[in-house]
Amino acid sequence: PSVKQPPPVLAPRRQTRKVRLGDIAVGGDAPITVQSMTTTPTHDINATLQQIAELTAAGCDIVRVACPRQEDADALKAIAAKSPIPVIADIHFQPKYVFAAIEAGCAGVRVNPGNIRRFDDQVGDIAQAAKDHGTALRIGVNAGSIDQRMMKGDRVTPEALVASAVWEAGLFEEHDFHEFGISVKHNDPVIMVEAYRQLSEKGDWPLHLGVTEAGPAFQGTIKSSVAFGILLSEGIGDTIRVSLSAPPVEEVKVGNQILQSLNLKPRKLDIVSCPSCGRAQVDVYTLADKVTEGLKHLEVPLRVAVMGCVVNGPGEAREADLGVASGNGKGQIFVKGEVIKTVPEAEIVETLLAEANRIAAEMESA
Ligand code: SF4
Repeated sequence: PSVKQPPPVLAPRRQTRKVRLGDIAVGGDAPITVQSMTTTPTHDINATLQQIAELTAAGCDIVRVACPRQEDADALKAIAAKSPIPVIADIHFQPKYVFAAIEAGCAGVRVNPGNIRRFDDQVGDIAQAAKDHGTALRIGVNAGSIDQRMMKGDRVTPEALVASAVWEAGLFEEHDFHEFGISVKHNDPVIMVEAYRQLSEKGDWPLHLGVTEAGPAFQGTIKSSVAFGILLSEGIGDTIRVSLSAPPVEEVKVGNQILQSLNLKPRKLDIVSCPSCGRAQVDVYTLADKVTEGLKHLEVPLRVAVMGCVVNGPGEAREADLGVASGNGKGQIFVKGEVIKTVPEAEIVETLLAEANRIAAEMESA
């Protein structure tokens, strides 16, 4: 199938094989998806389903749940059945949970060959069980738990990450199992980028991008954005997970914003706001925050310009669907390039929100 090509500034997307995760596809011509992982104890089924609902509402396409104990494995069947998005069970150490997750009806299972005991010996049985149940797998190689056989020296190199992934992929393929994707995560974006570049040259597996343990929200957002931006601009990456030491909804927001920034996903609300400077005649930060907060529910593509003065203000406001250019304690409100009214500064936010909701309702009914 022909892959929908992004704008020319990005390299053509690499052609990977398509793998199905429930009713979502990863790879091939499927849209790049955003993943996250729940933080609730998986055995708390209600809490986990509640968090999955919140993640889904935030734009999460696929969710992963940890499975460290038998009680968590026992909860997978109910979670997989009730989740509105495909569920991937995340398995470390215990191979019996891989089989439990497959039998529970999870759309996918993430396996970590580096820390599942006698993994290589069990590949045939895992492949057969996954085939029987239509379950996809992800070979999730991680710098922190890499198969020690792949190490040369102390440092985890891109070559070691890739060698581990390719070795395990080869074992599954020897058993004629092909429904899997791969990740080779590292906390250093430079090593991570190099690993994914090398891996993408070695096969057509769908690639799950991730900078692992990327850090708190500020640092992790930047590390992930830089690394994913490089790789996605080279056409590498079929699904992404931003790892943050922050609530998982934040990961989803950042992931979607990365894809929208590269036009790899349709933009929804796009706030064009100036950084403010000595010419500003209004508190741009507060204005931009209030408008962003007030319009975060919008599902239509709407560009709203919030500009601090008349230097670039009218120009940007005119280019947007809706905008304000401030000056002299007033705001000129633009809709589709036309000034529709001038309001006192205190009424700028409420006027913008009202106009945005009116335009959004028109778009939705069109
Ligand atoms: Fe400064 Fe005006 Fe530009 Fe905002 S729009 S950064 S206030 S010059």
